[in-house]
Amino acid sequence: MKEKYSILLPVLVVMTSLLSACSPGLNQKTGKTEILKWKDGKRSAISLTYDDGSINQFRVALPLMEEKGFPGTFFINTGHIPGSEFKARFIGRPFEEIIKETAVVATNPDNLFERASAVGYLGYRGLMDYHTRAGASVDAGNMERACEIIDEAYAKVRAGNVQKIPADDRYFGTDRLTWDEIRKFASWGHEFASHTISHPRLAILDEVNMLWELEKCKEDIYRQLGPEHTFSCECPYGTENERVMEYALEIYAALRNRMPEVYLAELNRGSRVHPAEADKPYVQWQRGPLSDTPLHRMKSWIDTCLVYNDIWLVLVFHGVDGVGWEAISGDTLDNFFSYIKANEDELWVATFQDVTKYMRERMNSVVKTSRDRDQIQVNLSQNLDPRLYNLALTLKTDLPDRWKEISISQNGLDLDYEIISEKQGKSVMYPALPGVNPVIIRSAK
Ligand SMILES: [Zn+2]
Repeated sequence: MKEKYSILLPVLVVMTSLLSACSPGLNQKTGKTEILKWKDGKRSAISLTYDDGSINQFRVALPLMEEKGFPGTFFINTGHIPGSEFKARFIGRPFEEIIKETAVVATNPDNLFERASAVGYLGYRGLMDYHTRAGASVDAGNMERACEIIDEAYAKVRAGNVQKIPADDRYFGTDRLTWDEIRKFASWGHEFASHTISHPRLAILDEVNMLWELEKCKEDIYRQLGPEHTFSCECPYGTENERVMEYALEIYAALRNRMPEVYLAELNRGSRVHPAEADKPYVQWQRGPLSDTPLHRMKSWIDTCLVYNDIWLVLVFHGVDGVGWEAISGDTLDNFFSYIKANEDELWVATFQDVTKYMRERMNSVVKTSRDRDQIQVNLSQNLDPRLYNLALTLKTDLPDRWKEISISQNGLDLDYEIISEKQGKSVMYPALPGVNPVIIRSAK
């Protein structure tokens, strides 16, 4: 052991002296560029997300966000919106065949998904509830219980112990909301995203019915709003079922349920882990205010965001002012948004899509800085699909102290910038697009 050290030590000494010899006389900081963690050097990111498209999200919450200049992300069910091409339905064998089979073959993991996909569409009152409850059991990992629930439903049908109705539609209160209106909100900068056609328990659907709900919702959104709104999806009930995640990630670039990034810690709505305990470069911290969540607790989430630098707070809202699940009041929302607004200097409020893009671009970009006299050149390259990932990143480049006036440009366009003077020297913060021409910082002397 001793011998090994005596060989290694001189090598280390030589390497260290070589390193210092590389930068004689140069300001050690000059020429260094950093891609800042969040846009505009903010301390944390916040996404305001809404599920199920209940009407007061648009009549009450959206105008409040507009007042503050906050964009939201709305995960909508498309099946009920007038003009949508694709409706909720069952795709598969004739119902009579399936019902007949349930009399002789008990529900088991092999036939569960087909039966659970069909049960809500048999045309009898209350059967969608069996689908939902059985799906909750699958989400909880209890297949046996799910089979029992589905058996119970079909036994009722076979016994004629059911009341005939038109298709047992789930309804989430998107009444009076039209695609025209959604298009208007989208043009104001809000993100619309998929929450499936009809809000099923995806974990208990068979492949063809699961794909129908995921793909056709995306198709309607694409047709009505264009590709910018087909990036994000939330699979209903916050499922993290492996099979569902696998299918959904093939169809959507981002899921609020779960993301594939290894550098992102995810704390879901039920998690009691403090975001400071997450040991990854980024932590997505989901909080879902319910009707009895006090305002001071909601504000405390913002306070936490102001202390740490890694947090992406994803707020999940449902009902607003009496409409929708666990509705919270417009007054509470107004107060809460005002609190965020008051701390806006430190907080980046952005859509789910934009924060995802920023984070992915930053983690997949390489920045190189070179200097030639009165000019610094910054190359920002990335290996992501430029059709999807085209958000400007915020860079911070160290400047020589003697530079007084500067100009910054990329692709021949002058960029806005902010000079930052710190104890360790001067630097400049500016937005840059990855994967295109380099940024040129010039000293005007
Ligand atoms: Zn939902």
